[in-house]
Amino acid sequence: MELQIGRYCTLKDPEQKAQYVCSVCSNVGLVSNPSDGKNWHNAEACQWCGFEWGIKRDEKKWYDAWMACGGERLFDKPYKERCEYFNQIANQYMRSLVYMPTKEEIAKLSFDDRLFSQYGLEHILDRSKRIVVEYNGVRTEHEFETNKVIKIHEDGAFFAICLDHGMPLLLASYFFSWDRSLSERVRIAYFALNSELFEGVYVIGDRCQIRGKDNIVYTISIEKKHISG
Ligand SMILES: [Zn+2]
Repeated sequence: MELQIGRYCTLKDPEQKAQYVCSVCSNVGLVSNPSDGKNWHNAEACQWCGFEWGIKRDEKKWYDAWMACGGERLFDKPYKERCEYFNQIANQYMRSLVYMPTKEEIAKLSFDDRLFSQYGLEHILDRSKRIVVEYNGVRTEHEFETNKVIKIHEDGAFFAICLDHGMPLLLASYFFSWDRSLSERVRIAYFALNSELFEGVYVIGDRCQIRGKDNIVYTISIEKKHISG
């Protein structure tokens, strides 16, 4: 899944010819002089590597991302392909900033803690609560633990509960349809979680319902554990 993160206004053909060297890629790709401190209220993208001057980014990591995507001159491409190529570079760049799960980890649904902790999502194990999943007459109970993938069945139905500054979030896998009845956070806020793992990130209360691709409604609730005896 490719995220749309291009700022397309910087990718339009400029009226003037490039005459300044971009220090990111060392090519003549800029109309404005990056060292004069002026003209940077509007970002300008280097016509070679696409680095947007005026937007705070790591220059070395951008260069590496551009090279990893083939190092082609961005403005040699027609506008539409240019935007697509820019998105490809920007995605590669985003990946270099965060810990991304490996294919093996995704296959096993077992992850390094950084997957969640890099976004400040707190790990909590609370034995006074439990997570209850109900669907189609089936009821399963799980320990209340955040940042942990809970698999419902083998067809790719899994989810995780996370806490972002005390706000409970449901991260639902691609098995679930995007649900408008639940609020959704901005996907890009959790780039590594959204890219291949979770279809939606929802702000939830103690109980929520979400529809699977099998058209069955799954209820996920957080319940207080009853102490018996
Ligand atoms: Zn450049």
